[in-house]
Parts: sequence; C-alpha cells; structure tokens
Amino acid sequence: MSMKEYIDEAEAALLHTYNRYQIVWDRGDGMYMYDIEGKKYLDFVAGIAVFALGYNNKAYNDALKAQIDKVIHTSNYYYNIPAIEAAKKLKKVSGMDRIFFTNSGAEAVEGALKAARKYAFLRDGRTDHEIIAMNHSFHGRTMGALSVTGNPHYREAFEPLIGNVRFADFNDFESVKEQVTDRTCAVIFETVQGEGGIYPATEAFMRQVRALCDERGILLILDEIQCGMGRTGTMFAWQRFGVKPDILTSAKAIGCGVPVGAFMMTEKVAQQSLTSGDHGTTYGGNPLACVAVSKVIDLFEEQDILANVNETGVYLYEKLEALTEKYDHIKAHRGIGLMQGLECGMSVNEIINRAIEKGLLLINAGANIIRFIPPLIVSKADVDNMIEIVDACFAEQQ
Ligand SMILES: *Cc1c(COP(=O)(O)O)cnc(C)c1O
Repeated sequence: MSMKEYIDEAEAALLHTYNRYQIVWDRGDGMYMYDIEGKKYLDFVAGIAVFALGYNNKAYNDALKAQIDKVIHTSNYYYNIPAIEAAKKLKKVSGMDRIFFTNSGAEAVEGALKAARKYAFLRDGRTDHEIIAMNHSFHGRTMGALSVTGNPHYREAFEPLIGNVRFADFNDFESVKEQVTDRTCAVIFETVQGEGGIYPATEAFMRQVRALCDERGILLILDEIQCGMGRTGTMFAWQRFGVKPDILTSAKAIGCGVPVGAFMMTEKVAQQSLTSGDHGTTYGGNPLACVAVSKVIDLFEEQDILANVNETGVYLYEKLEALTEKYDHIKAHRGIGLMQGLECGMSVNEIINRAIEKGLLLINAGANIIRFIPPLIVSKADVDNMIEIVDACFAEQQ
C-alpha cells in the first residue's frame, strides 16, 4: 500500500484528535527515522523528547527482548526484579526516596496530586485544599492533570475539573504568593516549561517558591516529564539549581519508548501520604517497562549521555543564537541543554513542513515556537546538518 492509502485507512479508523503530518513511519536508526517509502529524516523531535538513546539501540533492544521471553507482566500484588532494579537506580539518579511507576506522564501527575492532597488531609483533616499551578503549563490530558494545565483551550469543554486550583504566572514569585491561602497544599510547575514554549524556571523563582513552601508547609511538585532524564544536562533539571522538590514526576525519556512514567517523593512525604489501598495501577511498573527504565539508566552512565548533552547543548545554543541574529522572523531563543526553542514572529507550520520536505523532523511548542528536542546522543555534525536545513527554510520564508 502507498503512504496515501495507509493515511486514508488511518483517518477512517482512528479518532480525529490529532492533525498529523502526512508521514507513515517504517523504522528508526540512531538519529534517523525512515518512512515506508524509504525517505530518511534527521530527527530533532525524538518522539517528543522520548527516544533519548536514539533509535534501535542494540543493548536496549536486547534487554527488552530477553525480558519478553521471560515474562512481560505480573501484577503489583507480587514483586518483580526489574521493578526493584529500576526503582533503586531511579532513586539514585533522582535523589528522591520512593518511587511509584505509572504508564504515562499524565498518570504520574495524577499520583503526585493525590499524594499532595492526602498529605494535607492527614495533617489537618480538611477536604478543601488548594493547588497552585502556572499559566501556560502543561501536565497532561487526564482530568486531574488537565485541572492544573494552564491552557484554557484544553480545559474549557471538560469542566468541571477538579476544583480548588489557582493559577499564577511562571517565574513571577509575587503572583504565586498572591494565590497562597491557609488551604494551599501544593505548588506544581515544570522546571522547564515544554509545551508552553520552552521557558526555563529562573533560579530566583525556584529558590523563592521553595522557601515559601517550607515556610507555609506546602509541598513543591516539579513536573520533569519532558525536561528530566538528562535533557537539560543534569539527570533532573532541579539538580542544576539545587532546589529539591517534595514530589517529582517523570515519564517520556525514562523508558525511551516503552510507555512508563513515575512519581517520586521524599521519605517525609511518603511517610505521611499515600498508603496501602490509596493508589494502584494494573500495568504500572510491570517487568517489561521496568527493564526499559533500568537499562536506560545504565546506558546513560555507560555512554556518558550527560556529557554529550552539556557539550552538544552548548554547541546547539551557539548555532541557534547565530540563526536568531540572522533572521528578523526569529524573535527569541531560549532553553537549556538539548531543550531549546526559537520563538518566531509568525506561525511556524510552514517552516516545519519545509524542513520535513528537506528530511528534517522538527516540532512546534505553541503556534509560533520551534522546539529542538533531539535524541540525547545527537552530535555536533547532526546539529550542523540540522542548522543548514533550518537556515534554508528561513531563507525561503524571507
Ligand atoms: C508530555 C507531558 C505530560 C503528559 O505525559 P503523557 O505521557 O502524554 O501523559 C505531562 N507533563 C509534561 C511536562 C509533559 O511534557
């Protein structure tokens, strides 16, 4: 069948919740994806910040295959070695004390919100606690995660969502302070806002919110589903600032393609929040997903992924800065490590489509921001190849 025929079949069978690019994928290898007609694309999307190790990593694939031949799923009513290994390693790299594995990012956020509410409930017995979230944030599409997502377009049709959520402005400490009441149980934000347009938290904001939370007995939840797992040059983005959350969420690159996420907490929160019977999942933390997590963390160390993020991230920054100076259409350049964005003075659809035409995958973050979130194995030569194409796309736009 041709690509067009597959796409027609897809449009006849799948719910229309995405405006998809007109590509049907066949396979991936390293930094490249191949469509079913054999066209090769340099990938600066990584399945939305998922494939940190690149495609078709042999050690990763072999670990999954071996586990498939043993057992894929058991149940959380028993123990399994991959989950034990994955939890131990994740504790070590995250600095958190206790892990709950989920199947997705949104579910990790749900768990984090439940833990925060239970913590507050056990303290004062009230059931009217409030959560402070940020404008332009993104935390996922389930009802709870949507409730703290600061994008009214995503929320409106699904009201009423969970109540008692107040929104503040990201990186504006005074606006957070204004939303605090004696019922506030948690503040949640992304250490680097992803979907909202690649906005890193400032160090001052992190420190001030942390101090406020400490002073008022409020829990700080950091959502590092997109910016965690090495993307900004430290395993988790908060580690750059030394401002530790009480609850941390992860997903996307944590399993490098296998659906898995996690919410993690400090021992203090774990001792006074979710307990036996409060939360559960059938698939979460199953042996296949956890072998992926465990192997990903091993490979990050073996391949010194963080060193590459720091080196290539700086190189990418310089190259995108040069492009920003060259073109009037580019209004701003932001980001850390291998999570960067170019804000443009127009919709970036056309640029992205032109890049795809030329064999480069890019993705937007909002209507006018191009997001650069390549696999973390990306090399300087890959950056050069990408820049050459993006440069040509902007030149045609003039
Ligand atoms: C992608 C994302 C989510 C949602 O993750 P899903 O796996 O799609 O449910 C939540 N928070 C952030 C910051 C994300 O980037």
